[in-house]
Amino acid sequence: MRNIREIIVHCTATKFNREVTVAEIDSWHKSLGWKGIGYHYVVMLDGKICAGRQVEEAGAHCIGHNSSSIGVVYVGGLDGMGQPKDTRTREQKVSLRNLLVSLKDRYPQARIFGHRDFAAKACPCFNAKAEYADI
Ligand SMILES: [Zn+2]
Repeated sequence: MRNIREIIVHCTATKFNREVTVAEIDSWHKSLGWKGIGYHYVVMLDGKICAGRQVEEAGAHCIGHNSSSIGVVYVGGLDGMGQPKDTRTREQKVSLRNLLVSLKDRYPQARIFGHRDFAAKACPCFNAKAEYADI
């Protein structure tokens, strides 16, 4: 197994009320020339957690950190005008926290970050590092 040092939270950068499937993300990432979905877990609008890339495999979600991290994405991140916004539903907030708690259980040495802690991006449109500091 890879040495997981970071768990990195993302948003799909899609409008708040739009559902996105794993297959859709997979096709976006294939069109970038990647081997498929770059995230390991996807949190749907209703809070359902779907598997993306196998955790054993390095992801494709954060330049410079892919080999040492797990990528988690929630669906949303843009308001109706297409501007960055924390659009997480109540269900997504609950599921995302539960997922992070269980990942931290499995990889106790890993620390939780938002994509924006490593790149000049708004993603995931909230301060993940602060919000999950207690995990
Ligand atoms: Zn991101």
